[in-house]
Amino acid sequence: MKCPNCKHFAVSEKVFKGVKFDICESCKGFWFDKGELYDLVDVALKSLPIPSDATKSSRYCPKCDGNMYTFKYPQTYCYIDMCEKCKGIWLDPKELEEIKTVRGALKKEGSLEEVIAPEGVKGSLLNFVNSAISSLTKTETW
Ligand SMILES: [Zn+2]
Ligand SMILES: [Zn+2]
Repeated sequence: MKCPNCKHFAVSEKVFKGVKFDICESCKGFWFDKGELYDLVDVALKSLPIPSDATKSSRYCPKCDGNMYTFKYPQTYCYIDMCEKCKGIWLDPKELEEIKTVRGALKKEGSLEEVIAPEGVKGSLLNFVNSAISSLTKTETW
């Protein structure tokens, strides 16, 4: 499969803890078919609609060649790409880790949104993200 990021034909399927996903051997980006991210990361969203303010990405879906849209993954700072047709998600290498870490911290403090309204995320949620990041930094230094 052709990588939507580095354009190499280096995307191949991996299985981790029984969950299938694809990884680019060249740039280490990840491709998740619809629902696969949630299967791998339990703090991910089970269903994620493309928000109305998403911008059209310059990347194309590696699976179905559909248009991809870029938007911020709820309650994180990651801008992800999602295919409008098959709803697959492309994540750059650091983004998977950030979604896991930040949303995991939010879950601990009870402020994780697990269902997203179609209109998307409000800016005020960034405060939660900031406090989650600062509490993470604290735990890492002791
Ligand atoms: Zn790549
Ligand atoms: Zn697609």
